[in-house]
Amino acid sequence: MTDVVLDGVGKVYPGGVHAVRNVRLHIADGELFVLLGPSGCGKSTLLRMIAGLEEITSGDLLLGGRIANELSPRDRNVAMVFQNGALYPHRTVRGNLMFPLRVAGDDPAEAGERVVELARLLGLAGLIDRLPRTLSGGQRQRVAMGRALIREPALFLMDEPLSSLDAVLRTELRVEIASLVRSTGATTVYVTHDQVEAMTMADRIAVLRDGAVEDVGAPERLYRDPATVFVAAFLSSPPVNLLQATAWSVQDAGMVLELGPQRLTVPWQDPRAAALIGHHGRPVVVGVRPDVLTLAPPGGPGPALTGRVRAVEFHGDHWLAYAEAGIPTVDANAFGRPPEPVAARAAGSLPSGRLAARLRDLLGRGAAEPEPAPEHEGEHRRSDLMFSLPAGTRPQPGEQVELAVDLDRLLLFDADGRRIASNRR
Ligand code: ADP
Repeated sequence: MTDVVLDGVGKVYPGGVHAVRNVRLHIADGELFVLLGPSGCGKSTLLRMIAGLEEITSGDLLLGGRIANELSPRDRNVAMVFQNGALYPHRTVRGNLMFPLRVAGDDPAEAGERVVELARLLGLAGLIDRLPRTLSGGQRQRVAMGRALIREPALFLMDEPLSSLDAVLRTELRVEIASLVRSTGATTVYVTHDQVEAMTMADRIAVLRDGAVEDVGAPERLYRDPATVFVAAFLSSPPVNLLQATAWSVQDAGMVLELGPQRLTVPWQDPRAAALIGHHGRPVVVGVRPDVLTLAPPGGPGPALTGRVRAVEFHGDHWLAYAEAGIPTVDANAFGRPPEPVAARAAGSLPSGRLAARLRDLLGRGAAEPEPAPEHEGEHRRSDLMFSLPAGTRPQPGEQVELAVDLDRLLLFDADGRRIASNRR
C-alpha cells in the first residue's frame, strides 16, 4: 500500500527561489495522479522530492503512512521515468529490461519470463533482440518505461515522458501508459505541462502555478468547475473567453452582469445569484468557453450576447469564430500570484504581464506548443469573443450575430480570480 501525503511541503533552492510552496495533497494508493502546470511552476521539483532526489525544505512527505523526508531514494521503492529515458546503448531491449532484475539478484529463468511478458504488454515483443539505436523514439520510451516498471515499484514517477515525441505518437502512447500503469496497480505521479495529456490520463489532477496548488480534482470537475481563472484558462482549448463584468443586484430580475455595453442576468432562482449578491457594484470575471455560445436567431427569448464576426478559423470538426462584442477581457495571468516575486525563473518559463500576453499570442495562447495554423479568414484581436460552430455552418466576416448563452455553464470569479460559486453542470 503506497499512498503519498504531501503535508505543507515547500522547497526553496539555494539563491532563494521558492520552487514549491506549502503543497498539501493526498495521492491515493493505485491512483494515476497528474501534476499539471506551465513550465517553471515546480512540477519536477515536487516529483524529485517524492523520489528523494531533492531535499524537502519544509513540511512532511509520507509514503505508505510513514514519514519519508529523510529516506534515501533506494529505500522508497520508487521508479522514475524522465523525458528522455536513457537506455544502455549496447544492451538489447531484453538486456535493458533484464538489467534491474539482474542487479536485484532475481532468478534468471523467472526474470527472463517476466521480461518477455512485459515486452509483450509494451508492444515490444517483436523488437526484443534489437539495440536501442535501431528503435524509434516511441519504442525507446516504452523500453524505458518497462525498465522502470519491471521491478514492480510501489510508486511510479514520470516526468514529461512523452514530451520529446511527435503528436501522433504522444496520443497513442498516453492511452497505453495509462492502461499499463493502471494494470500494474502502482501509485503513479505523472508530470506534464500538456492539459490534454492530463485530462485524458488522470484519475485526478493538481494544477500548479508558481509552486502552489491552484486546484485539485478529477479532470471533469476541474474543467466544469475550476477554482480559479488561471485553472479555467489553463484547461481550455480553444481558450475560454474571460470577460470583465460588474455585478448588479436588480430586484425583479436577479444579478445582472454588466459586460461593457451588454448584459447577462443570473436569475434569482439560480443558486449562484445569492453568492453574487456580495459582489454588488463590484468587478467580477465571467468565463465563457466558446462552446457555451451558440448561434441563435435574432431577438430570441433566452440570454444572449451579440457581436460582429471579425474572423473564422476552420478546425476540422468545427469552426472557431471571433466576434467584436465591445466587452473588455482580462488576462488569466494577471490574477492571484503569490506576493513575493519568483526570483530566477526557469529558462523556459514565461514572464507574467504584458510581455507574457504578447508571447502567448505569438505562441498560440497555450502553455503547450503552438497548434498548427488552421485555415482562417479575416483578422481577429485578443479581446474578441470566441465561439464555436458546427462544421456545416459558417458565418462570414462582417456578419452581425446573436449568440445564445448557456447560463448554467458560465464560470464566475471574483476580482482576485477565485470562483464565486460552483457551477451546476
Ligand atoms: P517545472 O518542472 O514545473 O518546469 P521546476 O520544478 O523545474 O519546474 O522549477 C521550478 C522553479 O525552481 C523554477 O523557477 C526553476 O528555475 C527553479 N529551479 C529548479 N531547479 C533548480 C535548481 N537546481 N536550483 C535553483 N533553482 C531551481
